[in-house]
Amino acid sequence: MTMSDTKERGSAGRLAKPIAFIDLAAQQERIRPQVERALLRVLDHGKYIMGPEITQLEEDLAAFCGAKYSIACGSGTDALLMLLMAKEIGPGDAVICPSFTFTATAEMVALLGASPVFIDIEEESFNLDPARLPAAVEAAKAAGLTPKGIIAVDLFGLPPEYDAIEAFAAENGLWVLDDAAQGFGATYKGRKVGTFGFGTATSFFPAKPLGGYGDSGAIFTDDEALVETLHSIRNHGASTKSFDNPIVGLNGRMDCMQAGILIEKLKIFPDEIEARDRVAARYSEGFAGLENVVTPVVPAGSQSVWAQYTLKIKSGLRDALVAALKDRNVPTAIHYLKGIHLRTAYERYPRAGGDLPVTDRLCGEVVSLPMHPYLAEDDQAQVIEAVRAAMKSL
Ligand SMILES: *Cc1c(COP(=O)(O)O)cnc(C)c1O
Repeated sequence: MTMSDTKERGSAGRLAKPIAFIDLAAQQERIRPQVERALLRVLDHGKYIMGPEITQLEEDLAAFCGAKYSIACGSGTDALLMLLMAKEIGPGDAVICPSFTFTATAEMVALLGASPVFIDIEEESFNLDPARLPAAVEAAKAAGLTPKGIIAVDLFGLPPEYDAIEAFAAENGLWVLDDAAQGFGATYKGRKVGTFGFGTATSFFPAKPLGGYGDSGAIFTDDEALVETLHSIRNHGASTKSFDNPIVGLNGRMDCMQAGILIEKLKIFPDEIEARDRVAARYSEGFAGLENVVTPVVPAGSQSVWAQYTLKIKSGLRDALVAALKDRNVPTAIHYLKGIHLRTAYERYPRAGGDLPVTDRLCGEVVSLPMHPYLAEDDQAQVIEAVRAAMKSL
């Protein structure tokens, strides 16, 4: 839907005006000429794979977040996989990760034959609860596994408690990997995401805060030796020095057209982060004092990139609210209906403390509202009004 569509349909009446959950068209309209020129440049130089856009984007991304190195790759899933391959995890190894996250976080651990150990989350932040890390290590050992690392996830765009997670990891000889597929651009205690743990994986899937127009992702690290390994993994484990493949890798490359698009999108990203923050602030103000509605909290010193704006709806009213909002033409999404630990392929893996009560409960309470940098104030007012009216009628 373009901005002009919005205007035309808006006059057709309140309920006829659709609100986009994520409006990629409004953003495209803003940078369309730059994107077209970027694509034409690739068509002109013809270096479709590993052309100049890749190096340029890697430099721009690293400069943006303050990491020393950035490695462009095919997707957020590839970024996780490549970092885990570089750590050489496999059967017998355990990696602690939340269950309340997108599937890929635990999936790449399992794909390599290692075992995810699921850990519960904090009620307020939706992120991994550092207080449960000792129980996670115990659960791994009780299952006969060797704990190797922790995957912290910046869920819904908010960084987790890195200080506590990194301190526990250091004391227990574990590494920390940041799955920042939702959190690239966010800040924790004055530091940008991309600089925590031994490496960071992010995604530029179109719906992520910094999304391309297709699949791609990136890795960040300060470790020069790791960069060399990742370059090799990205290119089938090939050596850069001789005709040899000393390790097993994959094709993890990003294509140049995506890189060209992302170079342009990164330029407006700081502005978009501020716009997202304004949208979130207006929501939270609009829902203040509403019974059975808990708005998201951002700890002092952190900035969220609001990959999702997610409410907790108490007293078992979530599903009724979703239905009532649908009737009022307000789209919603549920992230996540069920923790990964309860899905068929993952039921057999250990859980810290035996079960994950906060995860299980929040799966029944969460609902995400339309969130993007171009959400007009009157559309947002309509969402707020719809939630308020629906909650009062339930
Ligand atoms: C989206 C997402 C991924 C996967 O990214 P893709 O680019 O879609 O492969 C991984 N982890 C989390 C937390 C995500 O939200």
